[in-house]
Amino acid sequence: MLKTGELCIESGFYRCNVHVENLIFIEKGYKVPECSLGPYGPHTTLWGPARKVSHIVSELKARQMHPAESSR
Ligand SMILES: [Zn+2]
Repeated sequence: MLKTGELCIESGFYRCNVHVENLIFIEKGYKVPECSLGPYGPHTTLWGPARKVSHIVSELKARQMHPAESSR
C-alpha cells in the first residue's frame, strides 16, 4: 500500500482504497498523488497495488462495451 505524499517504491498500477474504480499508474520515485474522486474533491488515500494488468485491461474493455451502465 502506498499513501498520498509518500514516494512510490515500485512502479505499477494502483487503485484508490476507497474508489477501487480509480486506477492510476505511479512510477517509482515519484510522489504518490491524491485520489481525484470523491464528493469533496481530491483526498488523501491509500493506494493498493493492482498487479494483474491483463485483468485490468479486460475490465476496462468491458466497461467500454457497456457505457450506458453509469447513467442508469
Ligand atoms: Zn478515492
